[in-house]
Amino acid sequence: MSANDTCRIGVYICHCGLNIASKVDVPALEKYAATLPKVVVAKTYKFMCSDPGQQLIKEDLAKHGITHLVVASCSPLMHEPTFRGVLQDAGVNPYLYQMVNIREQVSWVTKDLDRATQKARLLITAAVRRVALHDALQRASVPVNPNVLIVGAGIAGIAAALTLADAGKQVYLVERDPSIGGHMAQFDKTFPTLDCAACILTPKMTQVGKHKNIHLMAYSEVEAVSGFIGNFTVKVRRKASYVDTDKCTGCGTCWEACPGRRIPTTRVIRIGKQVIGRTRVAAAAQPNPPALVTQS
Ligand SMILES: Cc1cc2nc3c(=O)[nH]c(=O)nc-3n(C[C@H](O)[C@H](O)[C@H](O)COP(=O)(O)OP(=O)(O)OC[C@H]3O[C@@H](n4cnc5c(N)ncnc54)[C@H](O)[C@@H]3O)c2cc1C
Ligand code: SF4
Ligand code: SF4
Repeated sequence: MSANDTCRIGVYICHCGLNIASKVDVPALEKYAATLPKVVVAKTYKFMCSDPGQQLIKEDLAKHGITHLVVASCSPLMHEPTFRGVLQDAGVNPYLYQMVNIREQVSWVTKDLDRATQKARLLITAAVRRVALHDALQRASVPVNPNVLIVGAGIAGIAAALTLADAGKQVYLVERDPSIGGHMAQFDKTFPTLDCAACILTPKMTQVGKHKNIHLMAYSEVEAVSGFIGNFTVKVRRKASYVDTDKCTGCGTCWEACPGRRIPTTRVIRIGKQVIGRTRVAAAAQPNPPALVTQS
């Protein structure tokens, strides 16, 4: 016999004062919920999260042999732990529980009373069907790998990497371009304060390069991710740069001598596919290849 065959569901519908009751026909929902399969009790209460509301559920769990619980009230973010606690206190597995949000997702956002009640009815029906399929989960603690992978070393990736590395995490920062910095490395000033972009970004780029907890992988791309939360394995492909990064000083001489180098004559700035600016540039003023510059 499966848990589904023995399940006895209790449905509790909250008025939340007038928050729910002014838009949703709570007594009609109670009557309807009582007709749903496996439901042995359906009740309403003014404030289900209050002590008397919790006590009402607790007493019914023992009295009616309720094995699965549905509470139609507010956001799970707010009170899912509350009602799981009620189950736990009564010796029922706290995961045999489904919350229905008929406040934020129904009464607060639906003007029409009939439509609000109909929506709440559908949500309660779905919750009753779903809770019957829940497994009695058990909490367990397992060791996790706390290392962090950040993909993309623009200002966002750099800032995240520094924050996490300062907090003691080992950070693997993967950037597909040869240099970190992203878009901000190509700006003169940043809107809206018109602060000097390089003055903000460059010290952070240097910190990333020197931080003992940051493993920088520039000119690299993530090829595969496997595993699960706390135990991921990531395959990163480092592209061939033909440069020994331990010895390179960044002098730029190889760029000057590179036969594959193309010297742009026009700077084309794009957002996505849209061109938002063009300026002519002198070849001599182009010691390094900026990523946003294309030949035209
Ligand atoms: C022309 C222009 C002007 C702007 N002006 C301003 C401004 O004045 N003020 C302002 O506040 N904002 C401005 N912005 C927006 C600003 O650029 C962005 O908000 C900011 O730079 C975004 O930073 P980011 O780190 O999120 O992304 P990005 O700077 O885009 O960095 C993303 C990084 O991820 C890398 N990356 C992407 N995909 C992968 C991958 N699969 N694997 C590895 N690496 C990857 C990229 O190479 C890049 O280095 C402007 C944007 C543009 C395009
Ligand atoms: S359980 Fe949620 S909806 Fe019910 S009274 Fe408490 S806060 Fe309001
Ligand atoms: S020439 Fe300069 S920039 Fe090029 S690899 Fe050698 S040290 Fe680095």
